[in-house]
Amino acid sequence: MPDAVDLIRSKRDGGQLSAADIRWLIAAYTTGTIADEQMAALLMAIYFRGLAADELMAWTDAMISSGERLELGGLAAPTVDKHSTGGVGDKVSLILAPLVARCGAAVPQLSGRGLGHTGGTLDKLESIPGWRASLSNAEIGAVLAATGCVICAAGDGLAPADRRLYALRDVTGTVESIPLIASSIMSKKIAEGTGSLVLDVKVGRGAFMQDLASARQLAQTMVDLGNAYGVRTSALLTRMDAPLGRAVGNAVEVEESVETLRGHGPADLVEVTLALAAEMVRLAGLSADPADALADGSALERYCEMIKAQGGDPEAPLPSARHTEFVTAQSQGWLQRLDARAVGVAAWRLGAGRARKEDAVSASAGIICLAKPGDEVAPGQPVLELRTDDPGKFDRAREALAGAVGIGPDAPEPAGLVLERIG
Ligand code: URA
Repeated sequence: MPDAVDLIRSKRDGGQLSAADIRWLIAAYTTGTIADEQMAALLMAIYFRGLAADELMAWTDAMISSGERLELGGLAAPTVDKHSTGGVGDKVSLILAPLVARCGAAVPQLSGRGLGHTGGTLDKLESIPGWRASLSNAEIGAVLAATGCVICAAGDGLAPADRRLYALRDVTGTVESIPLIASSIMSKKIAEGTGSLVLDVKVGRGAFMQDLASARQLAQTMVDLGNAYGVRTSALLTRMDAPLGRAVGNAVEVEESVETLRGHGPADLVEVTLALAAEMVRLAGLSADPADALADGSALERYCEMIKAQGGDPEAPLPSARHTEFVTAQSQGWLQRLDARAVGVAAWRLGAGRARKEDAVSASAGIICLAKPGDEVAPGQPVLELRTDDPGKFDRAREALAGAVGIGPDAPEPAGLVLERIG
């Protein structure tokens, strides 16, 4: 049997772990034979030393093998999923799943909850009365077959090693590692059984990857892993400097998603959603134009069917916050910068996010960006609307927003959000 301390030392000193060592490490950690402090030390060694291509394959393989694999092969339509590396105001999944289903694909969106400043798709949808995130494998198949799309929690059986590892990375400063992020995301997506996958790799102030070179490297690593497992995979690198759309929170993001499905979405959100939808449709081998399904309202019908199939009432009023305050423009000019990370942290402090996995989130808390970069503003004009049920939270939210709004004398150059395609 390998010795955990020897393996940690070897990685620390720049050595390579064998596939057998990696299989043993992941299995031993999942069953509790290796202690958290030992795995934490190994993760930090990986953070600094990285993983070679064959180590990364073995690591991902061991994470997939730690649990079950979903079988989606029985569906008539080609399966295609999207995964975002996480952003602020990123409600794209809510729009994309019914939209791409309307284009003829089956979209199994096994999603997560928010942690830190980035929101979670399940938290957003849970603001809809009655909607259920936890479905059995049989229910996932039934909703997919009936509506062409499902957005639900990845069950406990899917890559359970990742759940433990991710929680440990979150408290040991080892999240921002390309091989660890790539293996974490791809083990879940490969185990989910999708035929194709489009990755939305966010770049910028509100993203894990703050520069283009690292985002490119992460995207290529994940694309290579997916393709090695027979999942047709490509990635779009998209800008995440300002929040996507105007709403940041839970219920407010559901409202904005429905408005977008009605054809009245903000330009940046529509741009990213349609680019990802077109890529998903292409990978799935279909020819429909997602822009048509968005314009004619048929994707909204799919959305309502999907919400109902998961116990939700798409017509029910959503919770709204009891208290509101505004952040106003300090000077005349053009909004040049609205820091996504600061807005995400402020929304989180208002109650929209959680500090620990077991915390509850507030459905109604959040922020509405009343002005976005490129808008002209006057002194005293409201730029952000802060919403919460607990007025005691405003001060800490405002602290997070110090310096988040940049106003200058000139209009910023309009910049597209989709930077590159990989794969
Ligand atoms: N999302 C994941 O699922 N895993 C990571 O490591 C980072 C983002």
